[in-house]
Amino acid sequence: MLERADRVVDRVMEKVIALGGVVSGEHGIGVTKLKYLDPKILAELSAYRLKVDPKGTMNPGKLDDLEVLQHIFTPSFNLLELEAHILQRAQIESLSKKVDYCIRCGKCKIDCCVYYPARGMFYHPRNKNLAIGSLIEALLFDAQRERSTDFALLRWLEEVADHCTICHKCLKPCPVDIDTGEVSVLEREILSGWGIKHSTPMTEMTLSYLASRSPGFNSMFRKAVLQIGGAAQRAGTRLTAPIQPENDPPALYPLRMLRSQVPEVPSATLSDILPECGPDQVLVFEPEGEAESSVFYFPGCGSERLISTISMAAIHMLLERGSRVVLPPPFLCCGFPAHVNAKTEQYGSIVLRNSVMFSQIREMFSYIDFDACIVTCGTCMEGLEAIEADRLFGGRIKDIAGFLQEKGLTIEGTGKYLYHAPCHDSLSGKALEAIDSIGGFGSVRAVPHCCSEAGTLSLSRPDITDSMLQRKRVAILEAMHGASGAVMLTNCLHAFRG
Ligand code: SF4
Ligand code: SF4
Repeated sequence: MLERADRVVDRVMEKVIALGGVVSGEHGIGVTKLKYLDPKILAELSAYRLKVDPKGTMNPGKLDDLEVLQHIFTPSFNLLELEAHILQRAQIESLSKKVDYCIRCGKCKIDCCVYYPARGMFYHPRNKNLAIGSLIEALLFDAQRERSTDFALLRWLEEVADHCTICHKCLKPCPVDIDTGEVSVLEREILSGWGIKHSTPMTEMTLSYLASRSPGFNSMFRKAVLQIGGAAQRAGTRLTAPIQPENDPPALYPLRMLRSQVPEVPSATLSDILPECGPDQVLVFEPEGEAESSVFYFPGCGSERLISTISMAAIHMLLERGSRVVLPPPFLCCGFPAHVNAKTEQYGSIVLRNSVMFSQIREMFSYIDFDACIVTCGTCMEGLEAIEADRLFGGRIKDIAGFLQEKGLTIEGTGKYLYHAPCHDSLSGKALEAIDSIGGFGSVRAVPHCCSEAGTLSLSRPDITDSMLQRKRVAILEAMHGASGAVMLTNCLHAFRG
């Protein structure tokens, strides 16, 4: 087809010249239109260039060498079948298709969590798309000219893939609907498929913890890593504070992990304080008096096992507002951390397990009209939306605060508060409205930017999250207007940790 297109261009140019037109391309003559130029014009041009640039320093051979097209490597001119095969082999054909209609408008820059020029971070989607385009050209060059089939250059894709919190904030302003969050997940899957995706032992351990449903392993991990390891990290942070560089993060990974303290975890998990519940059992909590509504509450790994006071408070508040609460078996995860870490198999098995389990729970409680599926985490909301849990439990997935607002919760009080909007916002940008309607917080000021926690990103790339944390610090200090302390509200447990 491309050969036919070339023949068509030949005929168009012949006609242009016959009608007295001028041979030109959209950016000038270029190497592809050179062959249509009148040889007399070319000779005049060469003579002029010899006069003004006798050593041929400026663009040597340009608009001079008629054989040039045979020697240069410009895949964008000739994306023939061979290139398509190469891209398929490197599994980057689908990646190329996802980003190649980027119009470079830069509208995605503003809200991107990893765009922070003050710390030298320029990884917003537009730049990443440019980098992907260049990398694809380099891969094609390498495969064709060096006959290299190991695609070693793909390793550079990891830097692009790592600079993303999968927040999807760039999707809304993008005029051509590029979801760079999903593009980043695809990049990680490609790297994982080639066996060149790096992952730190901390990330791997955390993913195993989140996937494990064993009470013994969960208790051991919590004690050894979250409690003892957390205390050691906080002590290490204090000890190494004097040797930490002020601005850029240190080169050594262990020192990077000691740049800022991890918060303490509560002493007990949700299952520690609830009646015993097996892996195939559910717990049902009835409010005092007759239930006014029924909800299925999915605490997820974060609210159940990390900051467990969140799930305890959620159940308490739901019961207090007259809701019957159905709680799934312990130690479940929505699968989102596995998905964004390109653990495709692990993610697939979590999704399948949750889908089957939720359907069985729905069937078991077929006599109940559920009002909603309640979450206390934005990523859980995304994870459950992906398996359409809303269809089983009342047709909607609601954040706890949004649900309690609907149920008429009001709080007395006043004061000055800050608010952090999480990347995975379970209140869909309506948190300030909800806070206003619930009351009790006086004036609330939103502080922009990502908290830097970003799931397991702070474990795998503490250098990236350190810069993000710095940006958040600056924004918080600005919002505090010189006050000595502030209370920050948020609707995300990861943001709470960040
Ligand atoms: S998903 Fe978020 S962090 Fe990733 S590129 Fe888009 S805005 Fe930036
Ligand atoms: S907003 Fe979309 S089209 Fe514009 S530069 Fe960003 S990714 Fe490209």
